[in-house]
This record gives sequence, structure tokens and C-alpha cells, in this order.
Amino acid sequence: MEQIVVPPREGRAVRVGAGQSLKIVTPHGSQAADFFAYNAADLDEWLSPMHTWVWTRSVRPRVGDVFLSRFRNPMAELVEDGAGGVHDMMIAACDQARYEQFGYEGHHASCSENLAKAMRALGHEVTVTPQPVNFFTNTRVDEEGRLLSPPNPVRPGAYVTVAARMDLVCVVSSCPFDLPVEGWTINAPGGPTELLLEVA
Ligand SMILES: [Zn+2]
Repeated sequence: MEQIVVPPREGRAVRVGAGQSLKIVTPHGSQAADFFAYNAADLDEWLSPMHTWVWTRSVRPRVGDVFLSRFRNPMAELVEDGAGGVHDMMIAACDQARYEQFGYEGHHASCSENLAKAMRALGHEVTVTPQPVNFFTNTRVDEEGRLLSPPNPVRPGAYVTVAARMDLVCVVSSCPFDLPVEGWTINAPGGPTELLLEVA
């Protein structure tokens, strides 16, 4: 088994072969894990939540749901959920522009940048940031259609496991979001923490 630590606010890429599984753990709890996956044989094919949720009929991934690519091919299955279903497939990956919109001045780490850096470490230049699956991210849509992000209840040690249906390059980002935005709690109040990856 291969184990990788994703440091707080950073991202890591890992190859997961067809039939292998990737476990993602939030040791301290309440840490959003932005998850991206690419077909290792064709990096233009990436996992797409929007194509997935019209197939699974759920905007939140559940055990047994199969994530589809933007070409609608099955890429991976959620086989374990040790986080009580607290996941999101709607929020775009954070990026420098988003932090500036919130009033942050200067460079801020982001999931988009983490994706680009992690893929560059494998020799790939990413020009598009796909919509991620945001594991351990607490969003709700109310009756009026408003999008809410109440405090994150994910307990320490929570995890998910996805099983690859094709050879994948996966990227996991420890979301660096740490701004005190009223009603928009993404991570724990103490700031971003590391994630653990296990490929087996
Ligand atoms: Zn982020």
C-alpha cells in the first residue's frame, strides 16, 4: 500500500490503476478535500460531477454511486463513506480570483493552483480546472434554492474510499480556504489541515 500525506493547503497527484482503490482521510476532521480524476491514457477525459449527478440522480455522492467522466464513461465508484455523506459536487474549486473577490490581497494558495502544481509534478500542464468532487464539504440547498455552507461537522478520522474503474491520475487538494466569511464555513475554524491518501 502506498501512503501519501497531503500537507495543509497543498495538493498531491497519485496514480490509481483500474481495480485499485484510493482512500482519503481527514485526520483532524472538517477538512475539505477537492478531488479530481483523469483518465491516465487520455488526460482530456476527466471526472465530471455534472455528468455524474444526472446519472446517479443525486448532487451528493453516496456509496455505490459511479463517477462519470465528461465523456460519460465510468471512472470510479464510491465504495466507502466514513464521513456520513457530508460531501459536495457543486462548488467550483477555489482560485486566486475567488480570494480576491472576498477582499484578500496578495497571493493565496488555492485548489486550482494545487491541481496545476500537482499535475505539473507529473509532467502535465493543466489549462482547465475541472469541477471537483469536494469530499468532507458541508453544503446544503434550502427550499428557496439558496446555497448554504454551515459549519463543517466531519469528525476526525473520517474517510472515503473510491475504487478506480479505469487507470486514473487522481489529484487531492487540502482546500486552503481560511477566510472568515459569514455563513460560508468550509473548513474547521482553526484553518486547513493535512489529508492522508492510501492507494491499495
Ligand atoms: Zn479550495
